[in-house]
Amino acid sequence: MSLFDFDDAFRKYLESKYASESKKPTIGRYWPSQLGYCLRRQYYRFRNPKPTNPDSFRFFERGHVFHRWVADVLANTPGLKVLASERSLSIVDFKTDPPFTLDGRLDDLILVEEQDTGQRILIEVKSTETPFSMLEKPSRAHVLQIMPYLLSQHADVCCLLYLHPNLASKTFTIPYDKAAMVELMARGRLLDSCLRVGEPPVAEARMDPKSDWECKKRCEYVEECSKNEK
Ligand code: SF4
Repeated sequence: MSLFDFDDAFRKYLESKYASESKKPTIGRYWPSQLGYCLRRQYYRFRNPKPTNPDSFRFFERGHVFHRWVADVLANTPGLKVLASERSLSIVDFKTDPPFTLDGRLDDLILVEEQDTGQRILIEVKSTETPFSMLEKPSRAHVLQIMPYLLSQHADVCCLLYLHPNLASKTFTIPYDKAAMVELMARGRLLDSCLRVGEPPVAEARMDPKSDWECKKRCEYVEECSKNEK
């Protein structure tokens, strides 16, 4: 028997590192990374927070390991200058009363400058196990998520970099799209108003065969949703 139990050390490390993931979120502050997913699920997260499944922490950690690795590769790529790989974002929408805030961190994104052209490029790293043959276009939630960062960092484009556990990659280049930014803010406004009146948004993932994977694979609120709980 080994004297050292790495699994146990890793579990404790993950629990302490990601403890804040299970904290109750605050109405009025929303994350761009969540707003592209089922809004009803986000609503239940605010109304009835549940502890994050510890298995998800491994997934978060893998994302951070990939991020650090990509930042290191880019920092050593001739002709590229890494400008930032961690920065916070806060956009306030004053159209609502009270106003709501889009809060985020650039901690999954890396901002680089191409030295020949001066182009500012955001790199958003996503780990995925989906075979690339099935990944014909980036997820809409990922496209929406990057819009406030493109806007606030004055970046020319974003490269959504999907990385497989075997480190193979597939990249999509996405320019800023005002309509996508408007859609993201409208989703934030809708979630905010639903939370303030205590009325859940429609079960959008369940109603769309392209996104019902979210109900089957990820959602902790299937029971509440099927009963239309408030
Ligand atoms: S079960 Fe599906 S539709 Fe209902 S809240 Fe969860 S993800 Fe949304």
